[in-house]
Amino acid sequence: MQILKTIEELKAWRDEAARPVGLVPTMGYLHEGHASLVRQARQECAAGVASIFVNPAQFGPGEDFNRYPRNLEGDLKLLENLGIDAAWVPSTNEIYPDGFQTSIEVRGATARLEGASRPGHFQGVATIVAKLMNLANPDKLYLGQKDAQQVVVLQRMVKDLNFPVEVVVCPTIREPDGLAMSSRNSYLNASERAAAVIVYHALEAARNAYYKGERDADHLKAVMATTIHGEPQAKTDYISIADPLTLGELSEVGADALFSLAVRINKTRLIDNFLLINGRWETGIIAHNEPKEVKQPHVTLH
Ligand code: AMP
Repeated sequence: MQILKTIEELKAWRDEAARPVGLVPTMGYLHEGHASLVRQARQECAAGVASIFVNPAQFGPGEDFNRYPRNLEGDLKLLENLGIDAAWVPSTNEIYPDGFQTSIEVRGATARLEGASRPGHFQGVATIVAKLMNLANPDKLYLGQKDAQQVVVLQRMVKDLNFPVEVVVCPTIREPDGLAMSSRNSYLNASERAAAVIVYHALEAARNAYYKGERDADHLKAVMATTIHGEPQAKTDYISIADPLTLGELSEVGADALFSLAVRINKTRLIDNFLLINGRWETGIIAHNEPKEVKQPHVTLH
């Protein structure tokens, strides 16, 4: 695997790479969810590059940029084991040199959910992914369904700005108890980790109510809220049942809906979703045998 640090090194790699090229953007502290994106890119593309960059522009003031978990050495070992051709690990200065002034704003879909809770977040996301695509020039961009709104926003940007890229959305990978894998899970202590599964249980409860025939979105949201309320360490940030394309809230659930929520487990904010498409639920994949090399250390929150 080539480890690329500068834009020049990335361009040199890109110009020689066999096509199609797959790009997997990440913020590092890699887990089995990231690994699944890399594996899919490897399967579908002749060459693949994963980027590791904790993007300051997508963190708001008071968010966890400084303490976001980092383990470059472990991440590079994992990527090497996964057999990806290149890892791109740029410095902040390489990405945002002095004088940098531009940002991309996708309107509409960013006004709700994560965008409402985290002002400026999606401008940071859209800008960095646009830059990564301009630099790596991929044919396919691999994103996780775990970050459902990010998928909607980036698909919109790719379409609106005519990036010659196919967006590939990969299922959410879950811990054996159902908790969606996330770098931020490393913030959770043992008791918080046990409590965090409530996020998954809330989605399951809504799905079960749907199976029983409930179609009223407010009633289904109340089912989720009640489930979260049952866990003393959990506090709901938002609960949403929305149109999967526009993210507009639904009053009645038909064949397509995105059930999503953000919950704080003490100081740690977690997000998750189930997607209903054509009456079929996409809830992700439970990883029963988490490969050992993906284990990352626990991170203490201050
Ligand atoms: P991040 O490093 O959190 O920015 O995530 C990088 C990419 O991995 C994004 O496209 C995420 O949606 C995706 N991802 C993160 N967690 C998971 C997961 N549990 N399952 C699938 N994809 C994920």
